[in-house]
Amino acid sequence: MNYEVVIGLEVHVQLTTKTKIFCGCSTAFGQTPNSQTCPVCLALPGALPVLNYQAVEYAIRTGLATNCTIAPQSVFARKNYFYPDLPKGYQISQYELPVCQHGWLDIEGEWGSKRIGITRIHMEEDAGKLVHGELPGTAQSSFVDLNRAGTPLLEVVSEPDMRSADEAVAYLKKLHQIVVYLGVCDGNLEEGSFRCDANVSLRPVGQEQFGTRAEIKNVNSFRFVKLAIEHEIERQADLLDSGGKVVQETRLFDAQTGMTRSMRSKEEAHDYRYFPDPDLVPLEIDAAWIEAERAQLPELPEARRQRYQADWGLSAYDAEVLTAERPLADYFEACVTLLPSQAKSIANWVMGELTRKLNEGGVNIAESPVTPLLLTGMLKLIEAGTISGKIAKTVFDEMWATGHEPARIVEEKGLVQVSDSGAIEQIVAEVLAASAAQVEQYRGGNEKVFGFFVGQVMKASKGKANPALVNELLKKKLEG
Ligand code: ADP
Ligand code: MG
Ligand code: ZN
Repeated sequence: MNYEVVIGLEVHVQLTTKTKIFCGCSTAFGQTPNSQTCPVCLALPGALPVLNYQAVEYAIRTGLATNCTIAPQSVFARKNYFYPDLPKGYQISQYELPVCQHGWLDIEGEWGSKRIGITRIHMEEDAGKLVHGELPGTAQSSFVDLNRAGTPLLEVVSEPDMRSADEAVAYLKKLHQIVVYLGVCDGNLEEGSFRCDANVSLRPVGQEQFGTRAEIKNVNSFRFVKLAIEHEIERQADLLDSGGKVVQETRLFDAQTGMTRSMRSKEEAHDYRYFPDPDLVPLEIDAAWIEAERAQLPELPEARRQRYQADWGLSAYDAEVLTAERPLADYFEACVTLLPSQAKSIANWVMGELTRKLNEGGVNIAESPVTPLLLTGMLKLIEAGTISGKIAKTVFDEMWATGHEPARIVEEKGLVQVSDSGAIEQIVAEVLAASAAQVEQYRGGNEKVFGFFVGQVMKASKGKANPALVNELLKKKLEG
């Protein structure tokens, strides 16, 4: 049978606020268990939650950046369930009135451009963590660490608009890029700061009604999302082909086997007995607040991409690479501000030598020893004819190693380009004298050997001869 794939994603975005959503405890990752707790996040009797203002700001910014409407009034609700890492016995979330609704993101790929709807974005608190292991002298045990309890999250729920694993991954990457650009999330997938539940169903091609979905929980890498969805598609297709039925359930992806397996049957919303939390007043966001947050939005990658192409004539590919991460784009723009006439060669150096060095050394671009000032300083030396593009590579490596000014490096290492035609003429004469066979070939019509002469002269000058001049003088001598 031929099936159409239907996918909707729920993404948990952990916010980068310093403190938790309803108390002043730190949200720092990897601290001593239970060292970041207080009566509120431990759910001690009588403790009351107070909403973190910055978490709301981040929710508004995320909503604006994903084309959502920001609700003038939204409500926190209790989602009741029992689990040892949930001390209150309920999670504070939003249900009927979420903070953002009706947004969308456009994803690009082999399908062209496609708009994926965002149903809602709501704010909620994270639960704690269970740690399974053993203390010396005890049997296998489980421990409760509540450091994470109360960490602010946004849950971004998409419409069931995606039709393949690739579309789902493209949507996820886009959302990831945006929240990281906004600075509302550190984007660390391994630490669980950005994790995804994938809802997958199949329907026979041509059928309007959706099939029954399975939900794959907490997948925390782009690659695993693709694998998990592809496996799930296959599983459901086999099941349906053999006359079976998909049951609505929650499944887990096992990265070891590449398979999904059943975790539990899916709760219905009414199982959670949602109701408005009486400890928290409704959240009111007026137009002035929304506009204030809009003014805080950084320029997003899509807008930057378009600007790089329009203002500096970069190719779509270059613009995409340079805007993929905000620090890289910021670095590039800092360079262009210093040397506006050279945007293209700046792009080449940033995507080429600089990126290579950063990757090799595992260095963050913000800590690059070659700063925008140094890089553009070097490009100015090329522009002025002081050094050749070839020597610039040496200068670049030296700047990387020492952080010294390019002019100082050029002087100390004696790298100044030789543009003295007398000196070059002499080298040219020597090279031609030593290459009688090649000269004969050239004069016999084999113009390809010209490159050989250029190479020899550059070598003899230790790369310092002005290439334009070398070409000119060689031509003259050979023709002469
Ligand atoms: P829950 O919170 O119980 O998981 P929601 O109604 O909020 O349920 O839906 C969760 C996600 O499932 C949404 O992203 C939605 O787009 C997606 N979804 C809903 N129905 C289907 C379906 N038949 N196939 C695939 N995805 C679906
Ligand atoms: Mg769900
Ligand atoms: Zn606390």
